Amino acid sequence: MHELSLVQSMMTIILEERDRHGLGKLTRVKVKNGALAGAVTDALTFAWEALTPGSELEGVELLVEDVPLRVRCGACGVEFEPEDRHYMPCPSCGEFLGHTVLAGKELFIESLEAE
Ligand SMILES: [Zn+2]
Repeated sequence: MHELSLVQSMMTIILEERDRHGLGKLTRVKVKNGALAGAVTDALTFAWEALTPGSELEGVELLVEDVPLRVRCGACGVEFEPEDRHYMPCPSCGEFLGHTVLAGKELFIESLEAE
């Protein structure tokens, strides 16, 4: 399950950011999980609950927000949210090749909340 290693590297970044910004005890971490990022939200939460106890992040709540895939048609420029990420016909012109991915590709830490 690669979510375990994702969460491990997230924990390192979170602690670095906390120190860089001089935050106190963290209470909540918000993460955005893009539809194409390849991470399963439940598995991220599970990995967080498995890895954080005993660490400096013990008791910190992880909130994962799913970001839907959004693309721009390569032929006519219309932006849309495809239902299927393997076959995405444009609702306007029907083209299904050459779209640009606008959102939903990445997994990133959106914010840290501290006491
Ligand atoms: Zn189109």
